[in-house]
Amino acid sequence: RPLRLPVALARNTYDVVIGSDLISRAGALLAPVLPRKDTIIITDETVGALYLDKLQSALGETGIASRALTIAPGEHSKSLATYQRLTDAILEHGVERRTTVIALGGGVVGDLAGFVAATTLRGLPFVQIPTTLLSQVDSSVGGKTGINSRWGKNLIGAFHQPLCVLADVSALATLPRRELVAGYAEIVKSGLIGDESLFEWCEKNGAAVLAQDPECLAEAVRQACAFKARVVAADEREEQKSDGRALLNLGHTFGHALEAELGYDGRLLHGEAVSIGLTLAFSLSVRLGLCPKADLDRVVTHLESLGMPAHIRDLPYSFRITDLMAHMQRDKKMQDGKLSFVLVRGIARAFTTRDVPAEQVREVLLA
Ligand code: NAD
Ligand code: ZN
Repeated sequence: RPLRLPVALARNTYDVVIGSDLISRAGALLAPVLPRKDTIIITDETVGALYLDKLQSALGETGIASRALTIAPGEHSKSLATYQRLTDAILEHGVERRTTVIALGGGVVGDLAGFVAATTLRGLPFVQIPTTLLSQVDSSVGGKTGINSRWGKNLIGAFHQPLCVLADVSALATLPRRELVAGYAEIVKSGLIGDESLFEWCEKNGAAVLAQDPECLAEAVRQACAFKARVVAADEREEQKSDGRALLNLGHTFGHALEAELGYDGRLLHGEAVSIGLTLAFSLSVRLGLCPKADLDRVVTHLESLGMPAHIRDLPYSFRITDLMAHMQRDKKMQDGKLSFVLVRGIARAFTTRDVPAEQVREVLLA
């Protein structure tokens, strides 16, 4: 039996359904929430080859019509060009205001299809079927959709909440291990921000999650989604200047700098960058006298016990500190000329601050 996690927002509540073999039961699971038995599935070539037939036949069983649009896999598809191709294909064929867009894939497909749904006819209903661990625990919850601009990632977008999310942990069986580990880093991040029992659970069960134990995967997805849903419910549109959704960026200021330096070319996955970023955020907090050293050690021990990158020196690439600093200063989280960071007073005690001295950040990168 799948678990149902309600995400309660200001204007509506929807369910994240978590469990095994959900794609093959998608017809029965989605029929009660679709406004009309008509859907457009957006997927990428890799996920489409694996799960599109299964999804379309499951929808067909309950009389739900579907037509599929496929994009190339990878971050470069989150572009205006792909957005235009998809909206052209949808509008050319003709679309009804109650036709539902279904995203079948990872965060790239989810963000892009969500933005297509948010903007076509000023908003089509939307369903997420996330197929990477990262998209199940992070990008499918929270309603952020969007594409990249030549000026930066996720700069064009909209908030658009789904009718429902189906997180099918069986679909993770085909996910490359590196992608699985990268998604797991976001689960650890959630625990470290503000859910001590989730981090303790990770310390006990992380190895089983990465070994794809279905019960453990479902439980990890449930806890991480529940945590994100709580944060999002309190700050749906990222309007709070401090804390709120901004806390979800723990480890990300450092992580984005590492990713940006490597040019998002697949050498470093987002979650791998976040894993190192978590250590750096804890190190910075220790250096500033805010966090006990023992908590930093516990984080590093956990990451290393699972073979996750914990330090910049774990990567086979070299970085120039000045370049990393420059990226952080350009990061959109920089306001009024000061570096804003998510720091910690310990495990599960994250907070946001707007005035971290650049010199301390440099020292942490050098260490
Ligand atoms: P992704 O969508 O690129 O998927 C990673 C790779 O795995 C792709 O090559 C994909 O084809 C493949 N794949 C997906 N599911 C598979 C499966 N079940 N079996 C085999 N292969 C599979 O990447 P991602 O890590 O899922 O998502 C990253 C994106 O998510 C980024 O663009 C990021 O900006 C976005 N994101 C958005 C939010 C949000 O709140 N909207 C939050 C975090 C990240
Ligand atoms: Zn992230």
